[in-house]
Amino acid sequence: MIQLIRGFKDILPGEVELWQEVEKTARSLFEDFGFREVRLPIMERTALFTRSIGENTDIVEKEMYTFPDRKGEMITLRPEATASVVRSYIQHKLYAVDPVQKSYTIGPMFRRERPQKGRYRQFYQINAEVFGIESPLIDAQIIFMLVTLFTRLSVTGLTANINSLGCPKCRPAYKEKLIEFLDGLSESLCSACNKRSSKNPLRVLDCKVPTCAESVKDAPSILDYLCPDCKDHFETVQDLLNKMGVEYIINKRLVRGLDYYTRTSFEIQTTALGAQNAVAGGGRYDGLINILGGPEIPGIGFAIGFDRLIDILSQNMEPRIRQPEVFIAALGDDCQKVAFEWTNALCAEGIKTEMDFSGKSLKALMKRANRLGARHVLIFGESEMKEGVAALRNMATKKQILVSLNDIVRNIIKNII
Ligand code: AMP
Repeated sequence: MIQLIRGFKDILPGEVELWQEVEKTARSLFEDFGFREVRLPIMERTALFTRSIGENTDIVEKEMYTFPDRKGEMITLRPEATASVVRSYIQHKLYAVDPVQKSYTIGPMFRRERPQKGRYRQFYQINAEVFGIESPLIDAQIIFMLVTLFTRLSVTGLTANINSLGCPKCRPAYKEKLIEFLDGLSESLCSACNKRSSKNPLRVLDCKVPTCAESVKDAPSILDYLCPDCKDHFETVQDLLNKMGVEYIINKRLVRGLDYYTRTSFEIQTTALGAQNAVAGGGRYDGLINILGGPEIPGIGFAIGFDRLIDILSQNMEPRIRQPEVFIAALGDDCQKVAFEWTNALCAEGIKTEMDFSGKSLKALMKRANRLGARHVLIFGESEMKEGVAALRNMATKKQILVSLNDIVRNIIKNII
């Protein structure tokens, strides 16, 4: 038997309802905040990701599914969504109509990481991005929107972490200080961090290896190096979050690690999933649109780990599965053919209706109706057909009434609502 690929998974009925509910809640909330959906391809030219995510990152160095297509062009299954959203914004010159674009997208991402709980090779993200707004008001607003989504979904036990990464004016001085600090630590850092410490030193700060985390506890903080504009920006974000009652902690080790990330960065963390503690992450990337060939337009966004959110939700929530309103138990070929039309007419009217096509006994059909949780069963056999009626049984009250075959679909609807 051919099994699915390691790190990939099937989302089956019973679980999928939870995914649908989350998706519905997110769409409706984001649209209330003025975001509109974009649907983008899951494959892009490799260069889009190497240029945007950066060569010296785990994603680009070892996690991307990259391959030549039949003509030899290098293609990558997208490891994240922001680069594609930016590409489409530039390619369709959306900024020419209105530089402000608020968009969201939901879909699969691919990273060849080591699979474990909360970490998959095909995983799903819910992304939201805002282009064209420099004001810290939008930083606070999207954090508020994110937190509101978790509140609407009744997810508790989450902590919002925020930090500022400065800007190209103030970060270089900090970077130098950090490199100096890391220089003395090569013995206690993991090999990946030793490589990172000169090229991408900020990344060392959020390494999950315990010895690294311990070693950088006393690292200099970027917050002490912010220029006045960045300092103002970060203070305003905090003020606004305080006013909105959003609880957060300042986590000076929270980095996005790439040069074009600027100012606000944030992560929503949980204790419910062991090592994979980030449920959502985001931040400002004022340089990215320009790096990918567009104008100097600022951007900010976040990605929610959909799978992780579902893992948390499923710990204390049963998905709401819509039960059939009517189960039609038609006995014998002739009755089945007649009732088949009612079934379809009821479905078309928006009444969830099931019918068994196997020709089993009434006892077997009642058993199946019970298993499906049908609210009503319509029993229709030879004798009912002769009398011009069908028996409609309410499965909760066990009361049964006869409904006339004249205009039966209306009669059923009238009696089940
Ligand atoms: P990132 O783009 O790495 O900041 O990821 C954003 C969010 O996606 C993270 O906070 C996680 O919740 C989720 N995520 C990232 N990688 C994976 C993965 N391999 N499996 C499941 N979720 C992931």
